[in-house]
Amino acid sequence: MTRSSLRLKDNSKIAIIGGGPAGSFFANFAIRHAKKLGIKIQITIFESRDFSQRGPRGCNMSAAVIASSLHAKLVNDGIELPKNIVRQEIKGYYFQTKEYGIELHRPKPNENSSILAVYRGNGPLYSIHKDNYSFDDYLLNHVIKRGVNVIYEPVQALKLSSNIKTPANIIYGRRNSHKEMKADLVVGAFGINSTIVDKIKGLNFGYEPPKTIRTCQMEMPLSNSFIKESFNDNIYVFALGLKPFRFASMVPKWNYVTISLVGSKDLSKKDLLDFLNHPVVQSKLPHDWKMPDRFCMCIPKITLTHAENPFTDRFVIVGDASISRIYKNGLESAYITSQLAVQAAFERGISKEDFNRYYYKPARKLLAMDNLFGTFIMKLSDFVTKKSWLVTARLSYVDSKRGSWIANHLNAFLWNMVTGDAPYRKIFLQALNPVFQIKLIPVTMKALIIEILNRVKSIAKNRINIS
Ligand SMILES: Cc1cc2nc3c(=O)[nH]c(=O)nc-3n(C[C@H](O)[C@H](O)[C@H](O)COP(=O)(O)OP(=O)(O)OC[C@H]3O[C@@H](n4cnc5c(N)ncnc54)[C@H](O)[C@@H]3O)c2cc1C
Repeated sequence: MTRSSLRLKDNSKIAIIGGGPAGSFFANFAIRHAKKLGIKIQITIFESRDFSQRGPRGCNMSAAVIASSLHAKLVNDGIELPKNIVRQEIKGYYFQTKEYGIELHRPKPNENSSILAVYRGNGPLYSIHKDNYSFDDYLLNHVIKRGVNVIYEPVQALKLSSNIKTPANIIYGRRNSHKEMKADLVVGAFGINSTIVDKIKGLNFGYEPPKTIRTCQMEMPLSNSFIKESFNDNIYVFALGLKPFRFASMVPKWNYVTISLVGSKDLSKKDLLDFLNHPVVQSKLPHDWKMPDRFCMCIPKITLTHAENPFTDRFVIVGDASISRIYKNGLESAYITSQLAVQAAFERGISKEDFNRYYYKPARKLLAMDNLFGTFIMKLSDFVTKKSWLVTARLSYVDSKRGSWIANHLNAFLWNMVTGDAPYRKIFLQALNPVFQIKLIPVTMKALIIEILNRVKSIAKNRINIS
């Protein structure tokens, strides 16, 4: 057997480690491709979580906003999310700085898709509801109905042979139980929060997992009437210029608001409390709001870079553990990497050469190259949002010119920054648009002069006080 003949055929077995979005998307695409090729395949997903559990135990910990672009793809694939899964349809975003807030609207309304807020597991810890709310469970059940077998046990180890004729061997089971399964192709859809990441790295085929950072999330219970009235179906995005936060959002979900914080260092519960105590954040909460005694929170990892070599013979890694867009739209990246990996496996083959050429390179071009622009944009955004005088001047100017070209351009730029609707390359070009920058020069200069005068005044005042 040569590498070029390493292909999926009738009765091939595929084992997927992880039944999160990447695992379910891979299975869904694989079923369709096998049907198209007229071959029978057996797919088994291993999943260690029970998504019907509330709180972090049943949850793949995220803000869980489905971008409208992903929603459109799901609808196109016949995956219609029922009412119990969609916790809130999102109308738009509200961009809040230290001194100014501006409501953003969707630049190009699309009637066929919406931005949706869901729960990845079965809702927050301590919540009381009857239906199952889990988006991940819904996706998993979608593929179960199409013939996929799910084993709700963790994979402990993967054994890959140097002889390409030998199938891969999966060792799975809880605690001391030790079961094995052979598979022609193994798919790593285990995300970045699992200990298996290091075991896979230890197989020494060249896999280097993405660099990650710890974020902080909280589910805040609030009355539905308060959420409806003050959020107005908008997601709040905060750019407070406050260290160590890079990105902070509040996502309304009926009678809860999901708070997600991403920083320039690993975040902890203390950072969450600092954020909640900020006067601007307090002003968004009911006046008599107090931190509940017990609440649902987690500190999941988020990717900062992409993986190197997420493939070898008979093994390919998809989703977060492979390549995803940094800081946004990870669910859609899971969809894209799964789609590309299935195309490579079914149309080309399952050797490392096939995965490198037909999966990794296209995925890198599509997502990882774009992340270079993303990194630059984030640094620029960090710099700008720390200058609150500049942000306030620009936002208030644009707010006063609603309907004009400049207001529409800034709206589209900010919209693309906070949503997953456009690639970072496009956002980069929007930010540096010469007409946009030239039109803002007078506003920037005026704000700069006022800021300098204010500083001079405050230094003079301090000197008088000292003497
Ligand atoms: C704070 C935060 C906010 C985010 N907000 C958004 C957002 O609003 N929108 C968005 O699109 N993306 C968001 N993301 C990113 C998104 O969560 C990820 O991109 C997405 O979950 C990746 O899916 P995945 O299937 O690759 O991995 P995961 O969702 O992590 O799924 C991996 C699955 O594998 C299982 N598993 C792991 N190891 C094993 C094992 N050994 N055996 C069996 N099963 C195993 C896990 O239990 C899990 O179910 C956010 C991320 C963070 C951290």
